[in-house]
Amino acid sequence: MNKSVAIMWFRRDLRLTDNPALMMAVARHDQIIPVYIDDPEAEAPWQPGAASRWWLHHSLTALQDALAALGAPLIIRKDRSLAALLALARETGARAVYWNHLYEPAIRARDQQLGEALGTAGIDTASGNSALWCEPWTLKTGGGDPYRVFTPYWRKLLTALPPLSIAPAPDRMDRSDTHLDSLPIPALNLLPARPWDQGFYRHWQPGEAGAFAALQRFAEQGLEGYQRRRDLPAVAAVSRLSPHLHFGEIGPQQLRAAVMRAAAAGDALEADTGHFLRELGWREFGHHLLHHFPETPDQPLSERFAAFPWRKPADYAADLQAWQQGTTGFPIVDAGMRQLWRSGWMHNRVRMIVASLLTKNLLIPWQEGARWFWDTLVDADLASNTLGWQWVAGCGADAAPYFRIFNPVLQSQRFDPGGAYIREWLPELEGLPDSAIHAPWQAKPAELAAAKLRLGTDYPLPIVDLARSRARALDAYAAIRNR
Ligand code: FAD
Repeated sequence: MNKSVAIMWFRRDLRLTDNPALMMAVARHDQIIPVYIDDPEAEAPWQPGAASRWWLHHSLTALQDALAALGAPLIIRKDRSLAALLALARETGARAVYWNHLYEPAIRARDQQLGEALGTAGIDTASGNSALWCEPWTLKTGGGDPYRVFTPYWRKLLTALPPLSIAPAPDRMDRSDTHLDSLPIPALNLLPARPWDQGFYRHWQPGEAGAFAALQRFAEQGLEGYQRRRDLPAVAAVSRLSPHLHFGEIGPQQLRAAVMRAAAAGDALEADTGHFLRELGWREFGHHLLHHFPETPDQPLSERFAAFPWRKPADYAADLQAWQQGTTGFPIVDAGMRQLWRSGWMHNRVRMIVASLLTKNLLIPWQEGARWFWDTLVDADLASNTLGWQWVAGCGADAAPYFRIFNPVLQSQRFDPGGAYIREWLPELEGLPDSAIHAPWQAKPAELAAAKLRLGTDYPLPIVDLARSRARALDAYAAIRNR
């Protein structure tokens, strides 16, 4: 009897556990051909940035090892996705292709066309949801519109959560009978040409096993007290699961199951688990918005912001560079930007502070910040990044009001009171007393001398005056407020 062969097309669902498309394929077919196709053109203009590509290299390596252990090696191809799938179907006799959904507008359009073309070629397709609790198109307001405000969206989402059942990884998969060409992962050239990623290895373990380890660490050390401590960047209170979630090495259902287990066992307070799930709710909300407002990665959701009087590139180029390099003279901002550069990640509280300085005090368009994050974050995610930037800039759904401008000194004093976070990423400020570390330009000469710190030489003076730039930002906002 002929074997029934299917292709499992891995994309950003790089895991074996609780992977709906993989489960469907394994249940219905005798032989599964797992494939990853490198096709960055399909994601244009949001091809993965440099830090994401670093992650992808290592995540694919982990998946390849896991699949090899099951018996079905991962085939790697570099081509347009449709051409690669048709070729693989021809080579293997596969009559079906399985994948999990992605939600970026360009990819959704590509998947739609690709599904139709495969159908025309006589190949069945089936797809699943590995990344979200609820597909972005399922929830609507009473009036049938998309949500624009988080709280009612969250309330609705809580009524629509899917049942909690986690599918285990398959215990074996048969390899193809025919020899199949496969590129080695290094041939995809995902790693940076310059060795800027050295620090990343200390901070991350990409892949499904790394995701489980991060979850376990968080359940044991972070979850209890999460609500109270999640805003403190010096404390290991958050999960750091964002890149694992972005690449689908773990899914939100698995996280939900884990924190509910911890709560049931009495290891975590309801308020902490509830708050953590709510953060995952923001991630879902970001996907909901991206689906319904596909132009928002570049355009403000709030239309009046289209006329916002941002500074011009020639005027802000030097300030943008100082922000990117972590040399603004505001320690909490510079610590964040250096954490980003060296580790590919930044604490959420600090993301808000650096984004506020860029868009408000420096009056630089939020799209510049979003692009920089896109290239440097290992968790760069079109839905969450767009949501985060538009929220801080005041032009998105349910955004912080524009006139709420973070003061980086007060934020630093409140959320990093002992300066531990600043000292970790800005060792040049190590010797300053806690009282001076948030605003070194206000330190007494004796404090600077004791810390052996020459301001303007060892560490920059602030590139902008906070009070004056705040007033300038409010004036700029006044120009569009009544539109
Ligand atoms: P935890 O506190 O452990 O939260 C658990 C998970 O919930 C996170 O992994 C994440 O998936 C989700 N989550 C938490 N906070 C948010 C939020 N505010 N919005 C959406 N999802 C959230 N997150 C990204 O994953 N990719 C991005 O590109 C991204 N860009 C951002 C840009 C700006 C300007 C801002 C202010 C926030 C951005 N965020 C982004 C959201 C948030 O900063 C990160 O998700 C969070 O810091 C990841 O760390 P964690 O996994 O330890 O979070």
